[in-house]
Amino acid sequence: MKNLLFPTVLITVIAFSSCQPKVDKVEEVIIKKNPTEYSTGAVLWQQHSAEYEALCYQAYNIGERRIDEIVAEKKNPDKPLAVVMDIDETVLDNSPYNATLIANQISYSKKTWMEWTAMQSADLVPGALEFIQYAKSKGVEVVFISNRMEEELDDTYQNIIDRGVDTIAKENYYLKSTTSSKDERREIVSDKYEVVLMFGDNLGDFNGVFDKATVIDRKKNVANFRPLFGDKLIILPNPMYGEWEGALYNYDFSRSNAQKDSNRMNALNIYSIGK
Ligand SMILES: [Mg+2]
Repeated sequence: MKNLLFPTVLITVIAFSSCQPKVDKVEEVIIKKNPTEYSTGAVLWQQHSAEYEALCYQAYNIGERRIDEIVAEKKNPDKPLAVVMDIDETVLDNSPYNATLIANQISYSKKTWMEWTAMQSADLVPGALEFIQYAKSKGVEVVFISNRMEEELDDTYQNIIDRGVDTIAKENYYLKSTTSSKDERREIVSDKYEVVLMFGDNLGDFNGVFDKATVIDRKKNVANFRPLFGDKLIILPNPMYGEWEGALYNYDFSRSNAQKDSNRMNALNIYSIGK
């Protein structure tokens, strides 16, 4: 099932002579598809399904229970306890950005992303505020490790403060300088704190084995990590974007929109209707 069912390019024959029809020119007409239309369902689900909110509450409720257990277990820890949290789609909901891409028929770009984060307009993911307040009230520090760029720090910090999370110092924000992998930053945080819980929407928020891994290897590693989910690792839903999608393109984001469309269609597990 290649591009036959989902054509992005049509060849049309145009122009005729006065007496006898003959082909003068073959012109390639590109039918421009909206490059982000395929994510409409995902964005609508994040913005409008109560199930999305229930999953977020579920994640943060588990987190609060784990905080109780951990604090009871670790009476005199060698290092202060900390929770590591990703920011995007873990603490901040960026669905208006993705919705705006669809409405404007454009793809993600650093320029539009930076314009969005500069607006400081993202709402909190349901349950995040209460969880952070709960962890802090139990003496557990909160550290953000995010792949927002360091130059986005001030806007991100202000956005989060404006939404009521005003207890996390700027030095507890570990944003991206050069590398997307979070391993290095996790090590720095682990030198200072005993990291007891990690929250993220992308598996790379938990461990570097997931970085740039294939679809198959991501699933294998998830199976290996299975006992840790709901224990030390707590995942939030994000149907809009993430490495799950990058893996479909072999992390080659320079592919054309038509190629990516084809990659997605070819990745569908289907069966033959009526057979
Ligand atoms: Mg994220």
